[in-house]
Amino acid sequence: MKIFELLKNDKPSISFEVFPPKQNSNYESVKKAAMDVAALKPNFVSVTYGAGGGTSEYTINIASDIQKNYGVTSMAHLTCISSDRATVSTQLEKIKAAGIENIMALRGDIPEDMKDCDLSTLDYTHATDMIREIRSKGYDFCLGGACYPECHPDSANQKEDLQALKEKVDAGVDFLTTQMIFDNDLFFNFMYKLRNSGVFVPVVPGIMPITNAKQLARIKTLSGAYMPRKFVNLCDRFGDDKQSMVQAGIAYATEQIIDLFANGINNVHIYTMNNPQVAAKIQENLSSIIG
Ligand code: FAD
Repeated sequence: MKIFELLKNDKPSISFEVFPPKQNSNYESVKKAAMDVAALKPNFVSVTYGAGGGTSEYTINIASDIQKNYGVTSMAHLTCISSDRATVSTQLEKIKAAGIENIMALRGDIPEDMKDCDLSTLDYTHATDMIREIRSKGYDFCLGGACYPECHPDSANQKEDLQALKEKVDAGVDFLTTQMIFDNDLFFNFMYKLRNSGVFVPVVPGIMPITNAKQLARIKTLSGAYMPRKFVNLCDRFGDDKQSMVQAGIAYATEQIIDLFANGINNVHIYTMNNPQVAAKIQENLSSIIG
């Protein structure tokens, strides 16, 4: 099933993101966690892609098994910055052969060793380059794209980021998923600016339940996402106590999701970090609300 069809639902629903193993040695345990998340049968499951190779071969296997084992629609992520045309072509054929109809088409982060390169000499400089190519080859995939309510760090300002986003959507994106947000107002402000920029595809907000202090430290360093006082207080108070932080993090994410639904958003994507217990608890908290 194509995700843009699933997003036409008029009742609130949630979807989950999982990641594939990074190496062979932990393949079974990481795969099991991803499968346990999919077994909760959300609206769809997306499977991330390791930008520099590594996990890439596992993305398709896991996305394919999710569909076969649980009948849940899956989406394979695909990054292009470290790839050439031949590699992307091979991946597209494999995704198609595996019966996966949805691709999250991404540039990927620029690897450290490429930061001094002239990126314009690469086969792909932006996600838009790969999206245009996929469309020009006539593939019938539903294509998702990433968007950043707080502006992508590579952009000089949000106006530029939105212009590039419009170009990406016009190249053939069917829907967008946001970078994680901890403050829904940022999402609503972004939606206003996005629609004003002439982008009208569905946008699925991404919510990351923070359930341990390590995760929090990582998010602070990597994403630079704005953390509201209410959330910082919660982490300060419960961060050192494992069980309390799990409960408080799930409660915060649940409240954020309910607020999104209450404001007319019908589809929310949850970055599960392959934690089936957390995903299940959020699903349970929403059991009378989601379709
Ligand atoms: P792009 O859309 O190419 O944008 C990157 C920057 O370039 C932005 O500043 C944009 O404004 C600018 N830009 C874009 N097009 C143009 C243009 N034509 N001219 C000038 N500037 C332009 N990473 C992974 O490695 N694997 C994953 O599975 C993964 N999944 C993700 C899922 C979601 C929902 C999100 C939000 C992010 C994900 N990422 C993943 C991270 C992502 O790869 C990084 O954020 C990356 O730095 C940008 O990827 P992009 O596809 O958004 O890039």
